[in-house]
Amino acid sequence: MTFYPNIIAAIGNTPLVKLNKVVPDGAATILAKCEFMNPTGSIKDRMGPYIIEQAEAAGLLKPGGTIVENTSGNTGQSLAMAAAVKGYRCVFTLPDKMSQEKIDMMRAYGAEVVITPTDVPGDSPDHYVNTAKRIAEETPGAFYVDQYHSQWNIEGHYHNTGREIFEQTDGGKFDVFMGGTGTGGTVSGVGRYLKEHAPDVKIIGVDPLGSVHYNLFKTGRLPAAYVYSVEGIGEDIECRAMDFSVVDDMVQIDDWESFHVGRALVREEGLFCGGSSGSIVAAAIEVAKKIGPDKTILVTLCDSGTRYISKYLSDKWMEEKGFFTDHKLLGQVQDLV
Ligand code: PMP
Repeated sequence: MTFYPNIIAAIGNTPLVKLNKVVPDGAATILAKCEFMNPTGSIKDRMGPYIIEQAEAAGLLKPGGTIVENTSGNTGQSLAMAAAVKGYRCVFTLPDKMSQEKIDMMRAYGAEVVITPTDVPGDSPDHYVNTAKRIAEETPGAFYVDQYHSQWNIEGHYHNTGREIFEQTDGGKFDVFMGGTGTGGTVSGVGRYLKEHAPDVKIIGVDPLGSVHYNLFKTGRLPAAYVYSVEGIGEDIECRAMDFSVVDDMVQIDDWESFHVGRALVREEGLFCGGSSGSIVAAAIEVAKKIGPDKTILVTLCDSGTRYISKYLSDKWMEEKGFFTDHKLLGQVQDLV
């Protein structure tokens, strides 16, 4: 009989699946790493439980302690899963644009969820990051995870996501890695692993239009951020979990493309994933066309579509938000709609 000692041990070993219909003829092969098949349905399982382990080992989180974090939802679910297994209390802050499904999932795991306004500047006391910091300061026995700045976030992806991708591709036998940039942890951890072990692989980050990472990479300056609808990627603050030294390039993708390509992944490829997966694949299609048929791009499909049934996967929501109109696109992405 084969079994895991608990659900945390079942994280990872997600499959790589070739995209067949959304990639045009003559373009590079795109392989999708199905991170939505992790226990809580997202790539955050790679780093949430890892950070908890490190915090325990460092004596920052003790029995009876409380895990506090600002999250767009997926990190909260992953931490809440680890907390359920290990018996910690959890308090999470979440901007109000995030889907009800994510909030309900965190509460179902037993977490306390505090909703904060999305449309406030990064230095506002009501910003979800500042709210989490305040709660951590006021709560005895609290451990503030701090995913946006924690080096353990990068390390989690280095040891888990990066190593696994390297092993799954016969020692890094592919050409380009593309991941979304939320905290920056995925791209930085995978990028660092591949730069050390397969330095010919190019690392490209995908950022939503309205986020700061793209401009920080290109100009070194923090631009004004604005609100966009895609969830889980992009930020309005500079993140120390974003290590640009291992990133070769960044691409910016808007909501419209993200959602239409995400819907095509579900309908044409049978991959039930979230909007940020659409952003990454939209960007990968453009790169695939440029680099041509003999190359291979590996992308992450970061979370499950189960979180977005009432949002981008709902025709009603897409219609109400104007995503069925109001946009002109050329080429392959337009053909998918
Ligand atoms: N996609 C989704 C849906 C996410 O929740 C996240 C994590 N915030 C990412 C992509 C990006 O990951 P990272 O924080 O590692 O940059």
